Amino acid sequence: MIGINLAYILASVLFILGLKGLSHPRTAVRGNLTGALGMFIAIVATLLDKNIISFEYILLGAVLGSAAGAIFALKVKMTAMPQMVALFNGFGGAASVLVAGAVLSESIIKGGDPGTQFLVATAASGLIGAVTFWGSLVAFGKLQGIITESPVRYKGEQVVKVLLLLGALYAAYRTTQGQGDVQWYWMAGGVGSVLGILLTIPIGGADMPIVIALLNAYSGMAAAATGFVLNNSVLIISGALVGASGVFLTKIMCDAMNRSLPNVLFGGVGAVVETIKADDIYGGKVKATSPEEVAMLLKMARRVVFVPGYGMAVARAQTPVRILTEELEKDGIEVEFGIHPVAGRMPGHMNVLLAEENISYDKLKEMDSINDTFGNTDVVIVIGANDVVNPLARQSSGTPISGMPILNVDKARTVVVIKRSLAPGFAGIPNPLFALDNTLMLFDDARKAMENLVRAYREAA
Ligand code: NDP
Repeated sequence: MIGINLAYILASVLFILGLKGLSHPRTAVRGNLTGALGMFIAIVATLLDKNIISFEYILLGAVLGSAAGAIFALKVKMTAMPQMVALFNGFGGAASVLVAGAVLSESIIKGGDPGTQFLVATAASGLIGAVTFWGSLVAFGKLQGIITESPVRYKGEQVVKVLLLLGALYAAYRTTQGQGDVQWYWMAGGVGSVLGILLTIPIGGADMPIVIALLNAYSGMAAAATGFVLNNSVLIISGALVGASGVFLTKIMCDAMNRSLPNVLFGGVGAVVETIKADDIYGGKVKATSPEEVAMLLKMARRVVFVPGYGMAVARAQTPVRILTEELEKDGIEVEFGIHPVAGRMPGHMNVLLAEENISYDKLKEMDSINDTFGNTDVVIVIGANDVVNPLARQSSGTPISGMPILNVDKARTVVVIKRSLAPGFAGIPNPLFALDNTLMLFDDARKAMENLVRAYREAA
């Protein structure tokens, strides 16, 4: 037992070192491996526990789970990563509900007093796990386009949610009474499930990044509670780490989108209260350009900033972006990248893609540090980004992105926007940037456009 506990402490230390490594792109791969080693040690130590009665079922579960995980990891497109993260958070919540429920049933069959810690932890695990599972399924459905991305609102919504919360808390409280009552446990889970759905369904697609981060935190809290149910220290620690890092990520995402958490959860932010007509914004003002014209502008530039977005990820355009960066730098032109915290479809999406190309981290500038430099930038090339450069966000209300800080690319001398059409981005609203005097639109698939741009730049005198 002492050996197992020591192994758990070692695993926990490796988890913490792993998280520390993940805090910087340069050490992220090592951090990931460190965390995986910790998990391996935790699994081996758990399997050595003498309380295990059926290795066959564990093996079967491990084989099936690993196969499903491997298939998901290989098949899922980078652009569908947020849905996958949402789904996996949900599975974590469901696992907590089922494990805690099974242990509660077992303890009731055995008889005796299970103790207050056990019962409180079981109730918490059932309730938080159920909210996580169903909330995550709704988030998955919204991002996958199975459920409408628009906020689903109804009359008396807040009252219904408060009543459900009180009902779930009462069922959880009854679970903790006396010997524990398995019916009350499943009732807490059942009401928690409806609550999970109703808490997530009114949240608009534009706020989904925050919701996913929050569900991630919930899945960690449910796991930590299950750790108390099982008296398993490594599960308590790893659950607490996931819970705490999820809360920090939620805070970072809220700040990035200028939302307060209560506002995201209860305010139904994401509802478009004004209809903005694309024709009013674009009518006769949009100017198309060609790779040759942009190449000429680049030849005359001294400072160029690339602003990547979701379209760069879809088109997998990062390779020609890296090649053009090298060409520009050969000519002594200063090149930097402006990275918005919610560009793409998951936190760090752009950093991952650009790191794949070995583009130096020093060139990747966060929004706050690059925003003041757009005024002395000759050319900004926006590659498949839309919402994160949409000046409508500066309006305090009226759009799903109102109040979200943006990259101030419109302050640059010339803005070149690469995208296939005037179609809106994730938030579904037109973008006045495309109609500005200093903006040129290069309509094409991002990869093709960047490859043509590299060729045109090399050919330009
Ligand atoms: P947007 O979704 O605003 O815009 C992407 C643009 O890419 C579209 O307008 C589209 O225009 C263009 N595009 C799509 N495919 C291609 C292609 N093959 N080649 C060229 N362009 C293409 O992206 P942003 O990165 O600017 O903003 C991210 C949005 O996603 C924000 O609203 C954010 O809140 C949200 N979000 C972010 C998450 C995160 O964690 N980062 C998670 C979930 C949502 P066209 O069709 O005309 O080509």
